[in-house]
Amino acid sequence: MPGTAVVIGGGIGGLGAAIGLQRKGWRVTVLERAAEFRPVGAGLVLQANGLRCLDALGLGATVRERGRRDVSAGTRTSAGRWLAHIGAGELERLLGTPAIGIHRAVLHDILLGALPAETVLTGATVESVTADGAVTWHGPDGPGRAQADLVVAADGIHSTARTALFSAVPEPRRIGVTAWRGVTPVWAGDLDVAVSWAPGAEFGMVPLTDGRVYWYGAVNSDQSAGDVRSHFSAWHDPIPALIASTETVLTDELACLDTPLTSYVRGRVALLGDAAHAMTPHLGQGANQALEDAVVLAALADQPQGLREYDRQRRPRSQRVAQASRTVGRFGQQLRNPAAVAARNALMRLTPPRFALRSMARFAGWQPPSLD
Ligand SMILES: Cc1cc2nc3c(=O)[nH]c(=O)nc-3n(C[C@H](O)[C@H](O)[C@H](O)COP(=O)(O)OP(=O)(O)OC[C@H]3O[C@@H](n4cnc5c(N)ncnc54)[C@H](O)[C@@H]3O)c2cc1C
Repeated sequence: MPGTAVVIGGGIGGLGAAIGLQRKGWRVTVLERAAEFRPVGAGLVLQANGLRCLDALGLGATVRERGRRDVSAGTRTSAGRWLAHIGAGELERLLGTPAIGIHRAVLHDILLGALPAETVLTGATVESVTADGAVTWHGPDGPGRAQADLVVAADGIHSTARTALFSAVPEPRRIGVTAWRGVTPVWAGDLDVAVSWAPGAEFGMVPLTDGRVYWYGAVNSDQSAGDVRSHFSAWHDPIPALIASTETVLTDELACLDTPLTSYVRGRVALLGDAAHAMTPHLGQGANQALEDAVVLAALADQPQGLREYDRQRRPRSQRVAQASRTVGRFGQQLRNPAAVAARNALMRLTPPRFALRSMARFAGWQPPSLD
């Protein structure tokens, strides 16, 4: 029987879980530390698996309307030479649904709009969580406390709940990569969804639906001195111009949970999203995996042994994706040795596009359970 649920964290994973649980009849409260949800200056690629989760949450049509379907895509060198190219619509033909480029603020708005306003308490920082479902926080009206049948810990890579309940887990580890992200103003002209590589560096661009372009750049941290403009000034067009037109640039030192957890569940508490399996962004799957967690948890949480089954279904898959993301980063953006880079590039040029497509579809082909 669905009862009361407290969701810690109002990111993509936490809001997704809250929507799914409400659909299943749970009485949900989301506690979010930030005093308000500010438009974050970055985009996101929702892959077929994430988009199908949004379908299960009843939001797929809205997201497709407000996001940009995939255009042609591939991998290039920093001089602009194609190493691998996939035509527009090919992934959609293979998977039955497109990938979508979307501004994070737009996705966040859609998720928030699906919840009654009183569900989400902002400015509420969770201070303690116990395995029997007791949660305390400091909120806008002072200290708060709840006893829940289910606690969803979706509080991100530096999760308070994980630290409290899974004390043997090492802290997230920096992987030695500095990343920048930005969104341009409206951009004239068509763009491919392209990732470009130089030794130890990567730049990616994703057109958004309203004519803006989301981009990210990453370099190995030992060569990251200087600002993002100086790193990519000699890269192919339109990379320098995309960066130059961007007002707000976010900078991150990339980190991940390098040591996989041996369980995502303690008593009534389930870890979800980055709190459970923070991964590197090289596969573009972190938020997509958080949405998978959200839908599976909502489908199972009211069943006998539901949390155990959530752990059984989600841990192996999300940890496989995290591991693959790390490997893609090592052989892609992080690779520096000139001979290894040349061999990799030659291999990519020789690989038929259908193999590249299949490897992209490997994780994106996942199907969520129904919440009806
Ligand atoms: C450079 C970069 C590019 C990326 N690109 C992609 C991509 O293209 N596709 C993709 O799928 N993923 C991508 N990701 C990964 C993705 O951003 C994350 O995996 C995803 O946002 C995780 O969502 P979450 O809800 O688990 O955590 P978060 O988004 O971190 O949300 C956690 C929330 O919990 C709140 N919180 C924290 N502590 C507390 C507390 N004590 N009390 C109350 N609230 C608290 C925080 O304020 C926050 O709102 C990228 C990541 C990076 C760094």
